[in-house]
This record gives sequence, structure tokens and C-alpha cells, in this order.
Amino acid sequence: MNGFTGESIAVRVRGVLSNIRAAAEKSGRDPSRVQLIAATKTVSVERIREGVDAGLSLLGENRVQEALPKIEALARTQVRWHFIGQLQRRKVRSIIGLFHLIHSVDSVELAHEIDRRAGEAGLVQEVLLEVNVGGESTKAGFRPDDLVHLVATMAPLTHLRIKGLMAIPPPTVEAESARPYFIQIRELAQAVAAETIPGVMMDELSMGMSNDYAVAVEEGATLVRVGSAIFGARHV
Ligand SMILES: *Cc1c(COP(=O)(O)O)cnc(C)c1O
Repeated sequence: MNGFTGESIAVRVRGVLSNIRAAAEKSGRDPSRVQLIAATKTVSVERIREGVDAGLSLLGENRVQEALPKIEALARTQVRWHFIGQLQRRKVRSIIGLFHLIHSVDSVELAHEIDRRAGEAGLVQEVLLEVNVGGESTKAGFRPDDLVHLVATMAPLTHLRIKGLMAIPPPTVEAESARPYFIQIRELAQAVAAETIPGVMMDELSMGMSNDYAVAVEEGATLVRVGSAIFGARHV
């Protein structure tokens, strides 16, 4: 049970927030520049509500079908939703306007589709570009080597605003082993920022999950996506 049996969601939320603060301070960063996104896949609306009552304000969902009823059920709260899972092009139309930030733009084609649908809806969708830092063939994302060039091709899309990068490093047992990947993501964002491409910002780095979010914060994460450390182990 992840060592959390018996602890309430409220206690875990407070624990994660205090770890984030400590990690930011340890590395000389401003803690207010790091936001906690609670990853709510497989978590019931009742348990999400417990988390919201305990102070969660940003929620991340992976699947469109699972997200839509939860967004509706929590419509009266102040939460903002982020889309963090792999997004199929044919699903884009059904989520435009519902998510404050899409973390997982992993191809130029997907970027174009989001731009097109956001344009139809008359809004600008904020996104992050997902980078495949580990070079894993099973994982989505842009190859680091292609990124600078491809960002320039997406920059002119007027209904898409690129805010930064997201990555899911290969799973490691020790959180410390993920550090080189987090450094690589930060340096990649710096390389893109150095190109000063009009309309492209590299202000946000979405990296770090339950196992390694503290290390990610030390290395510059501005958005951490934490699920099981808040809601307990997933059973599916
Ligand atoms: C599930 C998920 C998380 C959270 O994972 P935990 O290990 O439970 O913290 C973060 N990011 C993405 C994209 C996820 O799918």
C-alpha cells in the first residue's frame, strides 16, 4: 500500500507540498514557482474532492473518457484541469477549452490539430512539448535532437501557445538516478529559449512524479505531477 495505509489524503497533500517547498529552498529556488498537479487517473470523484478540500487546485488526467465526467462532477469547484496523458488526434476536438494546459504534445501533427480546433473554438490553447529524454522506443515525445528545429515550425501556429517542456524519464529505482534526465530537460529548454523564437516560451518544466518529484524540483521543475503519493497505490 505504498507505506501510506491509514494516512488521510489531506495529510499526504500537506506532506507533498512541504517536500516541494523544502526541495525548492534547498536549491535556492522560489517555492512559489513550483505547482503541484495531482494526477487523478483511476481516482474516484469522492477521493479527488477530499484532495481539493485539502488544498489541491490543479488536477491532471490522462484519458479523455475518464476526464470528462470528473470535470463535470467538479465543475462547481475552483480547480483547473491539465491533460497529461497521450492525446490522440481524433480526441482533440472533444477537449478543447476544458484543459488549462496540455502537457503531452508529442508530434507536429498533434500541434496542428490542436491549433485547428482551438481556432474553431476561438481560443488559444496552452501546451507543453513532450520530450522523450530516455530515447525509449515505447515512449512518446520529440527526440531531443529534433526539438529546436521542430519548435520553430510550430511557433507560427496562432491558436497554440508553447509554454515549455514535459518529460517522463525512464523508470528508476532510486530517485537520484533520474537527476541526469531532469538536468537534460532543463538544458534542452534553455537551448530552445536561447533561440528566442517569437511566440515560444520555455517558462514551464513539467517533470517529476511520486518517486522523484523532490529531485525534479531541485533541478528546475515548475510543475510536478504526483498521483500515488497523494491518493495511494493504483490497483489497476
Ligand atoms: C500517473 C501519472 C503521473 C503520476 O504518477 P505517480 O507515480 O502515481 O505519481 C504523472 N504523470 C503522468 C503522465 C502520469 O500518467
